[in-house]
Amino acid sequence: MPIQIITVPLSISNAYLLLGDRPVLVDAGAPKDGDQLVAALRQHGVSPKDLSLIALTHGHTDHTGAVAAAAAGGAPVAIGAADALLLRDGANGVLPPTGPAGLMLRPLVRRTTFTGFTPQIELHGPQRLDDYGIGAEILPAGGHTPGSYVVLLDDGDAIVGDLIRGGFASGRVRPGYPLRHFFTEDRRSNRAAVQRVLERDPSRIFVGHGGPLAATDVRRRFDAIT
Ligand SMILES: [Zn+2]
Repeated sequence: MPIQIITVPLSISNAYLLLGDRPVLVDAGAPKDGDQLVAALRQHGVSPKDLSLIALTHGHTDHTGAVAAAAAGGAPVAIGAADALLLRDGANGVLPPTGPAGLMLRPLVRRTTFTGFTPQIELHGPQRLDDYGIGAEILPAGGHTPGSYVVLLDDGDAIVGDLIRGGFASGRVRPGYPLRHFFTEDRRSNRAAVQRVLERDPSRIFVGHGGPLAATDVRRRFDAIT
């Protein structure tokens, strides 16, 4: 059955609610987003206790900060093993900027912390998500952070976290325009990860900020954004 992807726009990032046989949440917003996130789930008839899994694309606090609210119903939280420490610390790590905007934003992003959360599942490689009720695979895509992962759905859509971003002003202006992210720990690995996603010929590419993006636009701007 096709998975319905619901974008949940939060204060500075997107979370994604995947409605399949059972609901799965991908990413969990910034520390202050808990109430908004849970309210958005409920709008779609989902309570935290219904979630079969909360999968985090990476350990930055604008994607993990409200995970405790989402996990309050007992859903297990999965994150790449290499980012588990960020999640446990509720911190953002090194944040190497990719340009002047990143350099300017970094002090603010560094201050966005929370008490941290211990994940139930640390990912050490690709994993199918069928047991959690969706036809999809979660795959390593390190580069933005060492433990970044992407979710590739069997019906062709991709959720790629912060490998790239969409649009200006946190994605509010021209959200479908692909841009390089402000921070990347390993540009070469990140570029390879974007390339691997494109090789799957995704129909839509959902990102942590702005989007969704069309694969044709990402291909056209590949050198400018990776
Ligand atoms: Zn990030």
